[in-house]
Amino acid sequence: MIPRVRLRPGRDKSLKQRHPWVFSGAIAAVEGEPQPGSTVSILASDGSPLASAAWSPSSNIRARVWSFDPAARIDNAFIAQRIAGAVRLRDGMVDAAHTGCRLVHGESDGLPGMIADRYGEVLVVSFLSVGAEAWRETVVTALMDATQCSVVYERSDADVRALEGLPPRTGPIAGALPEPASLVEDGLTYRVDIAHGQKTGFYLDQRDNRRRTRDLARARDVLNCFCYSGAFSVAALAGHANFVLSIDSSADALALARENVAANALDASRVEWREADVFAELRKLRDGAASFDLIVLDPPKFAPTAQHAEKAARAYKDINLLALKLLRPGGLLATFSCSGGVSADLFQKIVAGAARDARADAAIIERFTASSDHPVALNFPEGGYLKGLLVRKS
Ligand code: SAH
Repeated sequence: MIPRVRLRPGRDKSLKQRHPWVFSGAIAAVEGEPQPGSTVSILASDGSPLASAAWSPSSNIRARVWSFDPAARIDNAFIAQRIAGAVRLRDGMVDAAHTGCRLVHGESDGLPGMIADRYGEVLVVSFLSVGAEAWRETVVTALMDATQCSVVYERSDADVRALEGLPPRTGPIAGALPEPASLVEDGLTYRVDIAHGQKTGFYLDQRDNRRRTRDLARARDVLNCFCYSGAFSVAALAGHANFVLSIDSSADALALARENVAANALDASRVEWREADVFAELRKLRDGAASFDLIVLDPPKFAPTAQHAEKAARAYKDINLLALKLLRPGGLLATFSCSGGVSADLFQKIVAGAARDARADAAIIERFTASSDHPVALNFPEGGYLKGLLVRKS
């Protein structure tokens, strides 16, 4: 029999609203001996069945829901069908001008803990929970079937795996990575360091926002902070920016960024790569009375969870304040947060506080989110981690 997990009275509300996580504190009793990653049946306090879920004994998120149909059988066919469905939803997103796409986006695709990105003919998979890990082979086979891709590389090395009691695992699963690996986005070619780069190698979630930046960059002096492999910088150069100063603390990322300028035959004399700490460098630029027409701030996740929100808020405010000071009148700030622990509302308040302290009159003229291959299930608002504002300084 499938082990059963009974919730405490009053603690079944979020499940009834179809939120896919069961926290340890909501659990009253466990019947049977579920193994890490195995399927359990979630029951309301009155014993009525609510969902089938994956059991994560080490994590505070003790179970992640596969299905709210308590009768659903969670087997290879179920998982393969979900994978095929997720891939089908991205039909038409991969063509000659766009060869990179997120195919599986965790909870929002009904596949908790699973990520799959496509770069050309290469699939990069990431398993972030024991529940996801339990179906690793099924997922890989289903992805290869659905995409006809023959190369699969694993990047299960995100920090969250530790919370699940899982060690990091990276390496080839099928075929060999092309050398170099790359993707095409909006007709521009980007080299991707799949084995050692950040996340699965590239920030696909910023695709639409990079396109917007490209449109806005014409004849502007651009500052791109936290530039990683230079994707916003390349987009700005392709959009005929006058000059782009790009800052990142990672020398490896900057080496790739240089290659990306060359790969697109863009004018390398119009970009400067600076290996530096953005917090310190923005101060130096301010002290040197530098100024720009367009600034991109796309920092790493300062607040993975709401517990880190306060410290993160200080960091966001600091860089946004400095950036607003460096903007010329009429200049644009494209500012982002990918922190799950900072809501869009809070982020706007932080940027407003930064403008106040910078004594800058500024207005939001657009809002940014992740591209549509990163859906946000309405029952899983946590999926909407990426938010951004386009702010114009008067
Ligand atoms: N905008 C990029 C993604 C940014 S990811 C893109 O579109 O591809 C965040 C980047 O910030 C990483 O490359 C990381 O190396 C860099 N980083 C983190 N902390 C930093 C700091 N204090 N100063 C400079 N760069 C930093």
